[in-house]
Parts: sequence; C-alpha cells; structure tokens
Amino acid sequence: MKIFVTGGAGYVGSACLRHLLAQGHDAVAYDNLCEGHRAAVPDGRLVVGDIADTDALARAIKSHGSEAVMHFAAATYVGESVTNPEYHYRNNIAGTLSLLNAMRQAGVDRMLFSSTCATYGLSPKCPMDEQSPQDPCSPYARTKLAVEWMIRDFAEAYGLGFTLLRYFNASGASPDGEFGEDHDPETHLIPIVLQIALGQREKLMVYGDDYATPDGTCIRDYVHTDDLASAHLLAIEATTPQTREVFNIGTGNGQSVLDVVRACEEVVGKKINYDVVARRPGDAPALVAAPSKLMDRLGWQPRYPDIRDVVATAWKWHQAHPKGYGDSKGQA
Ligand code: UDP
Repeated sequence: MKIFVTGGAGYVGSACLRHLLAQGHDAVAYDNLCEGHRAAVPDGRLVVGDIADTDALARAIKSHGSEAVMHFAAATYVGESVTNPEYHYRNNIAGTLSLLNAMRQAGVDRMLFSSTCATYGLSPKCPMDEQSPQDPCSPYARTKLAVEWMIRDFAEAYGLGFTLLRYFNASGASPDGEFGEDHDPETHLIPIVLQIALGQREKLMVYGDDYATPDGTCIRDYVHTDDLASAHLLAIEATTPQTREVFNIGTGNGQSVLDVVRACEEVVGKKINYDVVARRPGDAPALVAAPSKLMDRLGWQPRYPDIRDVVATAWKWHQAHPKGYGDSKGQA
C-alpha cells in the first residue's frame, strides 16, 4: 500500500514508517523537522514540509500516489500545552483541518489518527476501554479529542474511512539501539531517568505523590514503539473507506512513576536520585488501557508487556546515543 505519514520523522511516526517499509509498503514521511529528526527516516523517504501548507501537502500526497494517510504530526507535550495552548490548538486542530482538506483535494479516503489516552483524562474508570467517558484535563488532550470529532464529522459529510488510535505512553527504542526517543527539551519520564543514569542530569523531579494511587504517584501504561507500529500496520490494513473505528493501544499494565524508577534502576544497575515536587498541571492521575478490543478484533499482541524490557531497549539507545540524534535535528 502507498502510505503518507505526517510527522514521519518523529518518535512514533518514524518507528511506524520504518515498520511499514520493512513490511514492503511504500511509505513516505512528511515532516517539518521542527521536532522530528532527519536521521530517523530512511534515505529517500522524507518530504520536508508543513501540514499547515494545504497546497504543498496535497501536491506531496498526489505525487506519492498515496492511498492512505497516517497522521502523527502534532504538538505532544502536556505541560507545554498548559503554558502555550495557542501552539497546540494551531498545530493539532488547524493542522489537521489543513490535512483533511489536502486529502480531499488529493482524493485520499482512508486515514489513521494518533489520538491519546489523555482524552480519557479524569474518566473515573481505569483501566479504560474505548467506551469509557472522555474527560480531558489538558489543552493537549482537548485538541486531540476535538480532532477525533473533526475526523468523524468529515467522514460523515465527505466520505472518509478512519481508525482513531488512542495510544497510552509511547516508550522504548529499536532493539538494535539505532532509533530512539530524542526530544528537545526532554520532558518524558523514561528518557529523563536514563539521562540521570548516564550522569547527564542530577536528579528526577517526581511530579506529585498525593494522587489517589497506591504510592501517590501517577500511573501510566508504557507501550513500546514497535508494538505501536505493529498495531498501526494491522489497523491500516483493516481500514477501508467505510471504516469508522477506534482502538486503544496499551499493554494493560499500569506503572506508577516510582515503579518506573525502580524498573530503570534494575535495568541500569544504579540508584536514581529523585525529589518529590508539586504536581505538573494537566497530568491525569491514572491512565491504563483495557486493550482487549485491539487484541480480539485485529489479533494484536504486545511483544514488550514487561516495562523492564521496554526500558532495556531505551537504555541501549541512550548509551549508544548520549546526545540523541546529534545535529541531524532540524537540518532540512
Ligand atoms: N513525570 C515526572 N517527572 C518528570 C517527567 C514525568 O514525575 O520529570 C511523570 C508525569 O507527571 C507523568 C508520568 O511521569 O505522571 C509520565 O509523564 P511523561 O511526560 O513521560 O508522559 P505523559 O503521561 O505526560 O504523556
């Protein structure tokens, strides 16, 4: 299949792109390299461009001959969305509106959308299944929920097959240590802990230990990017112009912040220093997937259900790339 991957130089997008190529699909990344990395994309597979530029986007989709779109391009930091919501609303909502218009211009009628567990937010039920109420508690999560509705409305009015994929916490690196997580600035828990293990940071700030969870710290479901990639492949193969579908992608295993610290200590064989500080605005207390729909309908199984195996891949990447992708970032 010919697949157009917006945000295909990013952390999750590039993992999916490489998986599609490895499985024989003809996929290209479309990325403005603001947050993505040229080095994460195989040679000849990157079109540098912005999703805000509808005409350029439509031209790129047509010239590739794409039959389907996987839409990853987005602003993703929860904390940043609280202090800079304009950036999130513009990238995520206006950017997706531009993409949907470009897809109509190019005649593409199938897509996957990277939604998030954060749309469940303060939902009282945890683990969450796809029917759980959505109650987002950050601007980031609200943009993702709004886009879910935008896609549903476009599908109804203009004809569009879609699958919404609500990821839990993307994590890990390729098992060969070649491709991994590199954000600037880094705000995510596992890379920060591993940077402490490498001596690049002094200590972890644990954002709150007064949540209503067993140890008081937030609980998340950490799912390996290779497992996200395999779910995307199954989902795109199942998406026809008539599809209106939504799946969670998570392992079903919840880990508190302190559980993650302990798993990292076990993998790296060192103690991790931390201080408990105030809660981070926008964080939901507990987000854990009920993933059985994806398993039952599409036959998905995570290869990395154990957080220690996820961390081990990330540790291999961080040791091999202490400066991440280096200066490849932003080099259009
Ligand atoms: N977290 C933390 N200290 C950090 C970074 C993250 O305590 O320096 C916590 C954060 O509050 C959340 C969890 O770790 O409960 C996962 O955060 P991350 O930013 O990795 O992903 P998110 O869940 O925000 O997408």
